[in-house]
Amino acid sequence: MEKNYDALVIGAGPSGITAGIYLKRAGLNFLIFEDNVPGGKVNFTYQVENYPGFDHISGGDLAFKFYQQLDFNKITLKTEKIVSVVKNNNLFVVKSNKGEYLSKTVLIASGTREKMLGVKGEKEFFGKGVSSCAVCDGNFYQNQIVAVVGGGNSAFEEALYLSMIASKVFLIHRSDNFRADRFLIDKVRNNEKIEILEYFVIKEIQGKSHVENLLIENVRTKEVRELNCQGIFTYIGSEANTEFIQDKSILDSEGYICVNNELESKIAGLFATGDVVSNKMHQIVVACGDGALAASSINRFLG
Ligand code: NAP
Repeated sequence: MEKNYDALVIGAGPSGITAGIYLKRAGLNFLIFEDNVPGGKVNFTYQVENYPGFDHISGGDLAFKFYQQLDFNKITLKTEKIVSVVKNNNLFVVKSNKGEYLSKTVLIASGTREKMLGVKGEKEFFGKGVSSCAVCDGNFYQNQIVAVVGGGNSAFEEALYLSMIASKVFLIHRSDNFRADRFLIDKVRNNEKIEILEYFVIKEIQGKSHVENLLIENVRTKEVRELNCQGIFTYIGSEANTEFIQDKSILDSEGYICVNNELESKIAGLFATGDVVSNKMHQIVVACGDGALAASSINRFLG
């Protein structure tokens, strides 16, 4: 068991990193844990155009700048996966795949992961044509046909990215009602390489050793079509990374963490910030702002 910390931050996305910068400025004794690359989902975003200070910047570059700031501030980042968080006698016991830590407070900034469609062929062909990261896997589809599933900002942004690589992009959505920003919808509609298929859902992903076809069904007419394509990128929303929280009473029905205006859950000393928070606008700027607020709340809590 490691010594007693003031705070343990779980997740090094924009929110956890910003919290780290503010905890450091407050002179607190803390660690940040991350089991993936620092910067969170920003790493897997092609282009960021709504973060002040940059009219546009690649997700990878912005994530790297976030990481550099951790380094500049000499903040300790541990590459460990947190497996449980429990409060015991006014102290939190945080277990990772490598050790056990004690702390007066915990800040959960563990973000979200992409949801799966749950259709036949999705698991079988994951990594063989099925992906939820266009930035990671898009380059395999030079001059090939790909499909993107979803109607939110992620699907629209990544369809635009893939249109620079693939010969054709189908954007498949289950209705004609898109959650994506108007600006992105207009860009996609004006892109000759992208064809939007409205009112379609994926029934099955088919192929031999790699994806070759999709079976898609029109939800209104029940017509089933075979769509020839070599890659399918799913962006149908996200799920909260909260499995490691033992006390499920702090979660909403979707698994996101409920907090008050100070970003504290109903467990005293357990704070949450960023995309993992219930009913939060998933934006980098919001995550950063809340990271600063959470750090300030922790500082106040510690007195
Ligand atoms: P999202 O906004 O939650 O959209 C998910 C989309 O997937 C919706 O169109 C939804 O359709 C569809 N969907 C859900 N389940 C489905 C299923 N089982 N089968 C088929 N379609 C399904 O998700 P997101 O695009 O990943 O974005 C997540 C959050 O991050 C949002 O708040 C978004 O604004 C934010 N974000 C922001 C930016 C940016 O500002 N640049 C970029 C990326 C993401 P229905 O509408 O019919 O439910």
